[in-house]
Amino acid sequence: MRLGSGTFAACCVVVEVLGVVLFLRGFFPAPVRSSSSSKHQAEPPAPEPSAGASSNWTKLPPPLFSKVVIVLIDALRDDFVFGSKGVKFMPYTTYLVEKGASHSFVAEAKPPTVTMPRIKALMTGSVPGFIDVVMNLNSPALLEDNVITQAKAAGKRIISYGDETWVKLFPKHFVEYDGTTSFFVSDYTEVDENVTRHLDKVLKRGDWDVLILHYLGLDHIGHVSGPSSPLIGRKLSEMDGVLMKIHTALLSEERETLLPSLLVLCGDHGMSETGGHGASSTEEVSTPLLLVSSAFERKPGPHSRHLLFYHDLFAEETWLCVLWSLSALSADVFFVHPVNPVWPARGSRFRSCWLGDIRHPKHVQQTDLAATLAIGLGLPIPKNSVGHLLFPAIEGKPMREQLRFLHLNTVQLTKLLQENVPSYEKEPGFEQFKISERLHGNWIRLYLEENNSEVLFNLGTKVRRQYLDALKTLSLSLSRQVAQYDVYSMVVGTVVVLEVLTLLLLSIPQALSSKAELEVPLLSPVFSLLFYLTFLVLSAVHVIVCTSTESSCYLCSLSWLTAGGVMVLVSALLCAVVSALTKVLVRGKLLSKNAAHSNSRWSELDLLILLGTLGHVLSLGASSFIEEEHQTWYFLVSTLCLALCHDIYRNYLPGDDCEPQRCLHVEGGFDGATPALQDKNTSSAVLELNRGCKSPSSLGTLRGYEKWMVLASPWVILTCCRLLRSLNQTGVQWAHRPDLGHWLTRGILEARFVYVFVLGILFTGTKDLLKSQVVAAGFTVKTVGLWELYSGFVLLAALLLRPHNLPVLVLSLLIQTLMAKFVWKPLRHDVAEVTVMHYWFGQAFFYFQGNSNNIATVDISAGFVGLDTYVEIPAIFLTAFATYTGPVLWASHLVSFLSSEASSSSALSHAGFCYALIGSFPVSAYIILVTSLRYHLFIWSVFSPKLLYEGMHLLITAAVCVFFTAMDQTNTKS
Ligand SMILES: [Zn+2]
Ligand SMILES: [Zn+2]
Repeated sequence: MRLGSGTFAACCVVVEVLGVVLFLRGFFPAPVRSSSSSKHQAEPPAPEPSAGASSNWTKLPPPLFSKVVIVLIDALRDDFVFGSKGVKFMPYTTYLVEKGASHSFVAEAKPPTVTMPRIKALMTGSVPGFIDVVMNLNSPALLEDNVITQAKAAGKRIISYGDETWVKLFPKHFVEYDGTTSFFVSDYTEVDENVTRHLDKVLKRGDWDVLILHYLGLDHIGHVSGPSSPLIGRKLSEMDGVLMKIHTALLSEERETLLPSLLVLCGDHGMSETGGHGASSTEEVSTPLLLVSSAFERKPGPHSRHLLFYHDLFAEETWLCVLWSLSALSADVFFVHPVNPVWPARGSRFRSCWLGDIRHPKHVQQTDLAATLAIGLGLPIPKNSVGHLLFPAIEGKPMREQLRFLHLNTVQLTKLLQENVPSYEKEPGFEQFKISERLHGNWIRLYLEENNSEVLFNLGTKVRRQYLDALKTLSLSLSRQVAQYDVYSMVVGTVVVLEVLTLLLLSIPQALSSKAELEVPLLSPVFSLLFYLTFLVLSAVHVIVCTSTESSCYLCSLSWLTAGGVMVLVSALLCAVVSALTKVLVRGKLLSKNAAHSNSRWSELDLLILLGTLGHVLSLGASSFIEEEHQTWYFLVSTLCLALCHDIYRNYLPGDDCEPQRCLHVEGGFDGATPALQDKNTSSAVLELNRGCKSPSSLGTLRGYEKWMVLASPWVILTCCRLLRSLNQTGVQWAHRPDLGHWLTRGILEARFVYVFVLGILFTGTKDLLKSQVVAAGFTVKTVGLWELYSGFVLLAALLLRPHNLPVLVLSLLIQTLMAKFVWKPLRHDVAEVTVMHYWFGQAFFYFQGNSNNIATVDISAGFVGLDTYVEIPAIFLTAFATYTGPVLWASHLVSFLSSEASSSSALSHAGFCYALIGSFPVSAYIILVTSLRYHLFIWSVFSPKLLYEGMHLLITAAVCVFFTAMDQTNTKS
């Protein structure tokens, strides 16, 4: 079977995408789940343990609170409440924290710190898989066991106002709701007024049990102007007013009911220093959690003593500071340090103590809220919850109830452990649970026998401590379970990806030959024998793996037909690799006999491209190189400009060795070249911009101004790159530096008007392309069509990019024009080099526009320009386009440029092949890197997001290659 090299490359990349998808499915582990979660019937609660004498307390304990109000402020960071901003802008909340009947915590969110997975974590208590971030734009109903479903089943009436994610997750759970969409990021007043306007009415009515308010304004302010914007303070004051209103209303109503009520203030995630969220920096994962209820003891008044143990985890040394004060603000402070009084060196830590900042709440997990809410509402704890009950919430209850609550939580966690860990009996948490349950039984016996109260109290405290330890251990080991990989799927995915890469590398000689065609020997009998053998072996392995393994495995859960398809793919690829290898070996033998073969020389540029590609791939093994990957690309692009400069001057200055570099490639041809095993993209591709090779002095024949433009253009491009660099500070280390982008603010765009134009241009472009294909109207029509598509993309990019990013677009166009007119054309670079340069610049522009390898920098708002409501498919398409504007624009420029400039008909084929190769090389290498680094500390925060980005890059590469092939087809037909 003969295939054009472009088509071949496109097929390869598409298969590689499948491999990467399989790898990702295995890499992002399935979360810890209870096996009984599918069954909906409620199980009876665990009875109170008892030794000998039987306890009659088998029912679930009654609720602790009559009403629960959850105020979720999106992107509320812990320091907005507990830090200086809280003191300044949230006086009422600060009063509640310091003096009120409340318990405050810093609840740590697990990455990805985006809204939907966080709401799920808060309500189910489970740790959602990382892949939930992909589902964030499309939140389907939550089927997992959760507090809301339990409350509904128990007949509680629930009301929700605010972010419509709640309504999507819980479509039939609310007796009343008003959802607001979170996609108009520039709106930060109306989204919140939409919530607050219901408050007066609803607080007066008594016909509800749970009220959920999700305020989005703060998050929107963060996205638009960052955490230090003056708008943040105003928003916090507004939220403080809301809290005061709710708290006073609850207090006045409590007088009529017997049970107290509970007010919960929390955030779903924090915000980074740039105002985004998604990753795992301290600012993004730390959220405040405040429980307010008259059931809790009031904090001591102003005339009492505070004792503060200040433990600085980051300094790796224990700081002990004793704050002795008559009041919080006019304090006499003494510092005592047990070992070494080094504190003056740590000025900031010292000041935070000295200023009387006594609000360093305990750190807990976000998942702990679900169990606490369930206990508070008298509901069973959600089955998949890995969190443990926040003990202070039940501290004021009698000992028997406390122990009962702790027992229920421990039983639930132990059950989850039994269902998810094969060797659960060896887990320390399980042993602790057994001990506490036995002690608890003894305590119940003593209690029922009405023993001496002091003995009872002492034993009770001991049991309680045992339970709390067990809870902590169980919760920790369950949370850790989430980091288990599905190695089988990962291996199969990696094998597919590597096979494709090897195939691409081995077929370089054929694919880049002047015919641009290659033979795929899938139908020959020898290979079909090999194919069947491999297929049989692989199927046997599959059966063995799937029957022996205990952990869940994606491939094994597939139907036999699908799994068989995967095996067919793997064996077919293997056969293709073997055949390509034999072909290369045979050819190598022939060549060594034929001594006359000329080894084509590598230019410096080729060498730079090769080393640059290898260096970039190697750099992906280090987390800080991933965080700062833009620096790598900026460096590569600048070096490329200098190399081009060198090239130009050498060609231009007379008296040099006049041997034109470019001509060598043409003469060398491919038939006589080395079977380029070294690397890919660079091996001397034949070619052919313009009309063959002119005389070396061609630069000298240029007109005066053009000559100067040629000489100057690399420097102009370098200057442009320097400017672009300071437009968006990205990465991690220097992201907080002020960038030019902050000076320009976002305006409102008359977007739909522009969409009409974009669609119009794209339509004419496509029409011309189709015409060139159908009517065989020829070359010019196709070129015109391609340039029309390109301008359509440019216009769409101009619409979607934030206004401050428009200079990126302008400079990108400028660089493309300069390169095309004054570098590629006069110097006649070959197709491979031009392709790689386009790819490099595309990558650099990905970062120039402010992207990074962090999920927080994806500009979701750009995808919703001109849309009234959330429409899924256009939204996803627009977001993806806005994020990948740089690579897409450069790729489409490449197609248009080659189609209008290259003389050879195989140019597009070659370019497609080179693009596939250079695009798939980093992904394949990164998959192996990430597998070897899967227990790295930063695997979830740095390497995993990068993996998702690499997957997206490959998808874009696949799309580009398919487009190349399509264009190539039209070319051959016309
Ligand atoms: Zn959020
Ligand atoms: Zn947000």
